[in-house]
Amino acid sequence: MNAKIVLLPGDGIGPEVTEEGRKVLAAVGQKFGHEFSFETHPIGGNAIDDFGDPLPEATLEACRKSDGILLGAVGGPKWDDPTAKTRPEAGLLKIRKELGLFANLRPITTHEFLLDSSPLRREIVEGTDILFIRELTGGIYFGESKIEQNEDGSETATSTMVYSTHEVERVVRIAAKAAQGRGGHLTSVDKANVLEASRLWRKVAERVVKEEFPDLKYDVVLVDAMAMHLISRPSTFDVVVTGNMFGDILTDEGSMLPGSMGLLPSASIGSDGPGLYEPIHGSAPDIAGLGIANPLATILAAAMLLRHSLSMEEEAVAIEKAVDAVLAAGHRTKDLAKENEVALGTIEMGEKVLAELSR
Ligand code: NAD
Repeated sequence: MNAKIVLLPGDGIGPEVTEEGRKVLAAVGQKFGHEFSFETHPIGGNAIDDFGDPLPEATLEACRKSDGILLGAVGGPKWDDPTAKTRPEAGLLKIRKELGLFANLRPITTHEFLLDSSPLRREIVEGTDILFIRELTGGIYFGESKIEQNEDGSETATSTMVYSTHEVERVVRIAAKAAQGRGGHLTSVDKANVLEASRLWRKVAERVVKEEFPDLKYDVVLVDAMAMHLISRPSTFDVVVTGNMFGDILTDEGSMLPGSMGLLPSASIGSDGPGLYEPIHGSAPDIAGLGIANPLATILAAAMLLRHSLSMEEEAVAIEKAVDAVLAAGHRTKDLAKENEVALGTIEMGEKVLAELSR
């Protein structure tokens, strides 16, 4: 199969980790007989410097024509001025909107070898393998928002949570399909005891699952209870689908479980067209250019690209197994290494994964 992959390295450690992701994709292509072509385009702070725009038109056009997009990270102190005309993050928001990427997928998987780095006890996190699916383009972050002056001089602010049938249906379908390909268990999280928008969410989600995915084990959990279950029994969940704000909060809570952010990838996908794949960490300006960033989250994001945009499950699993094997063999970058352990650099860690893949 031929596939066109766009690389958006971005700022800070972005270029360093994206390059390792590219090498791994190229190696998998070779191993499985695919022809992957790569094009690199600017996004974020460097794009503001060079083009005055965090998402230049040519970048967006190349992304539209691609089969999948691998992003590093954007941002850094150089572009932090709150009064600046535009900021690096605006490029990310625009690309998600322009490409209709309404579902954010975040796997939260614990690795046996890092269980003791988790802030929770080993016996609680052991076996955790959750795929969070957060609605990304609706809900309270996109509903009407205003601030009004009251007669007594005080102010009243309003943020509105809005969901329509169609918005819930499409994200629940993505989650249900993912659950069919995994453990067959889907959990929907809402706040239907209080919010009208959640009552619609619950009604639509239940209908979609009952009518279209009757084979799934399906349950519903209130978001406040979910915040507790996530740290008391994380290993009992498989796929979890929820709205924008609840997902924002729960996925950050969940990202602490595996013990390192440097291992967590994420994907933003729509109904069709290319998806956007990236590590969940930022541009880490404190270590940019030192060659010590952990590339594994980006490499795992590359695996997600193969799975979700190119339907290459076997190839994705090959990458995930290679990463597991590298960690099992005790290889660590600085963010994972204990005091007495030797830390590998970004390129060396990438080479370990490549070596595993070529076995
Ligand atoms: P960060 O994730 O960049 O860094 C937090 C800490 O984790 C730092 O100490 C960093 O060195 C470390 N770290 C992060 N990734 C690492 C890796 N792969 N290997 C080793 N260590 C790693 O978060 P921050 O410092 O809050 O943000 C820095 C910049 O990144 C900001 O400008 C922020 O806006 C931006 N950001 C971008 C994205 C994105 O592009 N999606 C996401 C989050 C933050």
